[in-house]
Amino acid sequence: MGKMDKIFNELEQIVGNRVRMNASDLCCYSADASQIRGMPDFVLFPISVEEVSEIMKIANKYNINVTARGAGTGLAGGAVPVKGGIVLDMTKMDKILKIDIENLLVVVEPGVVQVDLNEALKPYGFFFPPDPGSFATCTVGGQIANNASGMRCVKYGTVKNYVLNLEVIMADGTLMNTGSECQKTSSGYDLSRLFVGSEGTLGIITKATLKIMPIPECRKLVMVSFPSSEIAGKSVSTVFSAGVMPSACEILDKTSVDVLLKLDPNVILPKDGDVIIFEVDGSKEAVDSAADKLKETLTPFASSILVTDDPDEMKKIWAARSLVGAAVSKLDPTKTRIYVGEDLGVPIKKLPEMIKKVYEVTDKEGLLPMIYGHIGDGTIHVGQFIDVLDQNDWDKLNRAADALHLAAIEIGGTVSSEHGIGAARGKYLKTQCGNSFNAMKSIKNALDPKGILNPGKLGFD
Ligand SMILES: Cc1cc2nc3c(=O)[nH]c(=O)nc-3n(C[C@H](O)[C@H](O)[C@H](O)COP(=O)(O)OP(=O)(O)OC[C@H]3O[C@@H](n4cnc5c(N)ncnc54)[C@H](O)[C@@H]3O)c2cc1C
Repeated sequence: MGKMDKIFNELEQIVGNRVRMNASDLCCYSADASQIRGMPDFVLFPISVEEVSEIMKIANKYNINVTARGAGTGLAGGAVPVKGGIVLDMTKMDKILKIDIENLLVVVEPGVVQVDLNEALKPYGFFFPPDPGSFATCTVGGQIANNASGMRCVKYGTVKNYVLNLEVIMADGTLMNTGSECQKTSSGYDLSRLFVGSEGTLGIITKATLKIMPIPECRKLVMVSFPSSEIAGKSVSTVFSAGVMPSACEILDKTSVDVLLKLDPNVILPKDGDVIIFEVDGSKEAVDSAADKLKETLTPFASSILVTDDPDEMKKIWAARSLVGAAVSKLDPTKTRIYVGEDLGVPIKKLPEMIKKVYEVTDKEGLLPMIYGHIGDGTIHVGQFIDVLDQNDWDKLNRAADALHLAAIEIGGTVSSEHGIGAARGKYLKTQCGNSFNAMKSIKNALDPKGILNPGKLGFD
């Protein structure tokens, strides 16, 4: 019997028929929502922490790589086994174990889908705020491992603000808890935060205790169009300086708006420029006052302003915003959207400078960018399109990606605001971090001495 068959048999003893080794099954786990590819040797579907622990013991014994996977919606190849080995599909561990309103927390397994968690919390009047665009599909485990965020993180913060405790299986199969059910702690290193954003490179998350928040009473949208995206970018710091804290703040540049209108001419979006959709939430009085202040503050910069609290109209506007990822292909059907990782984040005041740089870089390469995203927290997504059969186009795209990431670093920004480093941005992370990358490496070596946890990610071999 060959080594792989022997390992298969040992894995089968742990999970029964929830292990796959045939090529067609493996192929389904060789990709996520990025272009990055890597074929696993085994795919396993654990249903308990005990199984995850036993699997890690086998992986440790045979030196097999292990890549955890949630819904596979990652845009940086995080869940792709670029160096082979086991893919641990965590989606069968999908129970909401506890809803504890009095303690303001939930305890969930990592495979719980974000939208299901919020549906379960709705009758209590509570929600788990981090809301990536993929909320209808992505898992809580994937969100934690990527420190995901979304439209409302401008006000509510990212996943890292909500993790109270993680149950984690370490590289050698041992179990540890990183925190407790306390709302805060001042007891030693903050290991919960260490695992947030660790992208499966330090351990496998098998349970999470998460803080929750009450659903706000009211929401109102203020949709503003601007004569240029740089002016739109500048408006963000103007709004904060005026003392308004929006609950969402999303940019759609003129190209994005045009594409959305091409997809559906009836979408409710202004046709006269670059758009920012602001949302405010809270009590009726607070929302009315914030919306009035927003309108007053932005009138000198704006081409047009629409204020609405009509639920149907707000739903349609957010639906248009959520279509932008899918709509990009309409810009030029002969070209393909490639995620080379423009998930840039910059300090809020630097947004106009970064936006200007995006146009300079893409103009130089003859690429047409689409800028969209959660601009309120400094995030800029830059959609780019190429003819994938043309090497010249790939060269242009790669040069543009290098220039954009380096520009973000130069102005004090970050190479990934929310999608993670994965296998897409390791080299940029090293440049951004400088010496602190060595500290990350020491932590990685201490917790995963054999380097079997998701190798090839975060700039590690
Ligand atoms: C249309 C679209 C819109 C998106 N919008 C946003 C957005 O607004 N904001 C945002 O932040 N992201 C966004 N994303 C990216 C992505 O959806 C999120 O990062 C999401 O949280 C990933 O969850 P997942 O379950 O799909 O994880 P996967 O893609 O399956 O995995 C992501 C990472 O988590 C690790 N991982 C998964 N489960 C575990 C576990 N149990 N233990 C340890 N490690 C684990 C994986 O190894 C991998 O490194 C978007 C993606 C798409 C396709």
